[in-house]
Amino acid sequence: MRTPIIAGNWKMNNTIAATKALVTELIPLVKDAKAEVVICTPYTDLATAVELTKGTNIKVGAENVHWAEKGAFTGEISADMLVELGVTYVIIGHSERRQYFGETDQTVNARVKAALAKGLKPIICVGETLEEREGGKVEEVLVRQTTEAFKDIAKEDLENIVVAYEPVWAIGTGKTATAEVANDTIKIIRDTIGKLYCPKCAEEKVRIQYGGSMNPKNVKELMAMPEIDGGLIGGASLKAPDFSLVVNY
Ligand code: PEP
Repeated sequence: MRTPIIAGNWKMNNTIAATKALVTELIPLVKDAKAEVVICTPYTDLATAVELTKGTNIKVGAENVHWAEKGAFTGEISADMLVELGVTYVIIGHSERRQYFGETDQTVNARVKAALAKGLKPIICVGETLEEREGGKVEEVLVRQTTEAFKDIAKEDLENIVVAYEPVWAIGTGKTATAEVANDTIKIIRDTIGKLYCPKCAEEKVRIQYGGSMNPKNVKELMAMPEIDGGLIGGASLKAPDFSLVVNY
């Protein structure tokens, strides 16, 4: 019912030369994928990635977008600028941005609105820290992050939104949430969206990925879970053979 979506998050990796090599190697390896395939790259690689993937099944995403249309925001990039490049998706609210760059639930919501207004599809990241999990706060945190991210977002936009459940303790650590824990936690997110809109809308329209050390070894088990609609892949997206094994799980 929901088309799976596997997205790579390159983070601050790959020059233009490295992008050319990686994308060229990746294209034939993922051409028959059943899942939707996305690569989210640094701003400086977007034009190259879009150009190389024209006519293929790979879509390109950015890793952030500013909420304002334009103006005095030195160093920032607007939705219009991304659309002009041919970008389709944009990661919003990644835990590294929340941790290092002052991202809040409110700025996440502002970015989501700006992206949707220009036709970009947000991949909204939510997830608890280890401290929050150990403190029994998983539900409270995810309900808050999800509710704030979707504030004032129209029901018609739901099909253009992807959520990535990324437990912070599993990102780049090699620790993966068990398939059951990932599934149960994603259910909390889907139920929250169901309460905000309608259960059927959450069930049919919103794809929710798991992210956190997903790799060729654990992808099958995670993707077999009914609530998991795909993955947001960091480390394993930087090598074409690894990423293709995840994509073709
Ligand atoms: C991420 O950065 O979104 C991520 C999931 O990273 P990794 O796969 O390396 O844990």
